[in-house]
Amino acid sequence: PFDVLIVGGGPAGAAAAIYAARKGIRTGVLADRFGGQVLDTLAIENFVSLKATDGPKFAVALEEHVKEYDVDIMNTQRASKLVGGKLIEVHTETGAVLKSKSVIIATGARWREINVPGEKEYKNHGVAYCPHCDGPLFKGKRVSVIGGGNSGVEAAIDLAGIVKEVTLIEYGNELRADAVLQRKLYSLPNVKVIKSAQTTEIHGDGKIVNGLSYKDRTTGELHKLELEGVFVQIGLVPNAEWLKGTIDLSAHGEIEVDARGHTSLPGVFAAGDVTTVPFKQIVIAVGEGAKASLAAFDHLIRLPVE
Ligand code: FAD
Repeated sequence: PFDVLIVGGGPAGAAAAIYAARKGIRTGVLADRFGGQVLDTLAIENFVSLKATDGPKFAVALEEHVKEYDVDIMNTQRASKLVGGKLIEVHTETGAVLKSKSVIIATGARWREINVPGEKEYKNHGVAYCPHCDGPLFKGKRVSVIGGGNSGVEAAIDLAGIVKEVTLIEYGNELRADAVLQRKLYSLPNVKVIKSAQTTEIHGDGKIVNGLSYKDRTTGELHKLELEGVFVQIGLVPNAEWLKGTIDLSAHGEIEVDARGHTSLPGVFAAGDVTTVPFKQIVIAVGEGAKASLAAFDHLIRLPVE
């Protein structure tokens, strides 16, 4: 069996693997897609100490760093079930069962897509999901934010300080964000809010985004906005569906962790975007992965001698 088995090969999983392997314990990584969300990222300009890089390069660097150590990497494999016990079992979709004394879950999250024409074509070419990451790329430009929940309104407030003009588009007839956020939003001079609006298409010139169409849900009329960027903010979905009923998840489906990355199941830790940790960023996921790994090691050295 493994001493530490990590499920997920994004920034959190990679950091956990390096920290575990450096303790000289038997470490494995099971990952559907090594690199994780970073593979879908174009520019990364906020990973401290790296002025600028791009996602695929960063993902290669993660993998190369992990491969410096004696880590058993099982790529293109999905975990489908976790069973607690003295030896914890991780079952894969192909029917394999891996056993480990401790498990770190770092399966990340995915942005909910709006699924309108133009979204896929212009992803990373004007269509963005992360204001902390991509906001500065739209300095002085016109953008829209789709979604009027907390994340959409926070994104609009954040972007208003950087870009020329923000149009927030909400499907329902009211914003769903907290009242304090809404007050802040309405106090900003360069933000416009359009409610009861269904986004129907994101337009571009073949290379980059140049507009967005929406339907006024009260009148049925179609409108078109000219802009350079669209931030889709309709939710971040944690990749934790496979753990439902096994470990405690929050109302948003995130794995509940304490300050050391413990989950509700003994010997099982979690880190990164799949957890309740606030703010989903690479630098945070890396730190959380390291932390969970050290906590797993702490757990292992306290196990009764066989
Ligand atoms: P992830 O990166 O999501 O990795 C999860 C891993 O788990 C993957 O290897 C995945 O294949 C695997 N996995 C999932 N389910 C299973 C399963 N059932 N079995 C096995 N493996 C599984 N952050 C920044 O700091 N700066 C940026 O500039 C930036 N830009 C971004 C741009 C985009 C387009 C996106 C989508 C995100 C961006 N982020 C950025 C956010 C950042 O990518 C995430 O915060 C970070 O990748 C989270 O790391 P993680 O290891 O927790 O999860």
